[in-house]
Amino acid sequence: MTCVVNCKEENLTRPGVWWNQILQVENADTQRIVYVRYACMHCEDPPCVKACPNEAIYKRPDGIVLVDKSKCAGAMECVEACPYGVIVMTPDKEYFAGQEALQKTELSAHRVHPPGKASMCTLCFHRIDEGLQPICVAGCPSRAMVFGDLDDPESPIQEKRERSEPLQASAGSKPKVTYVFPSGLK
Ligand code: SF4
Repeated sequence: MTCVVNCKEENLTRPGVWWNQILQVENADTQRIVYVRYACMHCEDPPCVKACPNEAIYKRPDGIVLVDKSKCAGAMECVEACPYGVIVMTPDKEYFAGQEALQKTELSAHRVHPPGKASMCTLCFHRIDEGLQPICVAGCPSRAMVFGDLDDPESPIQEKRERSEPLQASAGSKPKVTYVFPSGLK
């Protein structure tokens, strides 16, 4: 759960909002539990972008899918459209009184979350723009995640990518986040 806690601390999402989760999936055949890191898949063909009537969700040139909070009207079409159920509407709750005011004046933009707006994992774009890895990847003690440039044939991610596959590929959104399943545990 290090990635879950690190994401929370890094992005300071509001109470009840978990952009990065660990699902525990029981496999009755193997009698094993598989732990699956689960967040926005940063789809190549994202239904959330098409669904938003205000063009509030967009894909950056590098493929990261983000919400423009200034355009989001909170109508939730994106929530319905996302096949992975990872978009959350920011609640009007704070961890402590005055949190929102503090965020507006003292915190970086990526930690400001106005209520009533859609939000999901940003792949820590603010870290990537500084040459760093997403915090979930950087902090994982078992190095279970790999981040890299899919357009770079020399990137270390390519070896893993070849052996990986998306969850729920039938949704057709072509997720950029893919998984390497140990044999017999899928
Ligand atoms: Fe959009 Fe959902 Fe795909 Fe993320 S996982 S890009 S929110 S459709």
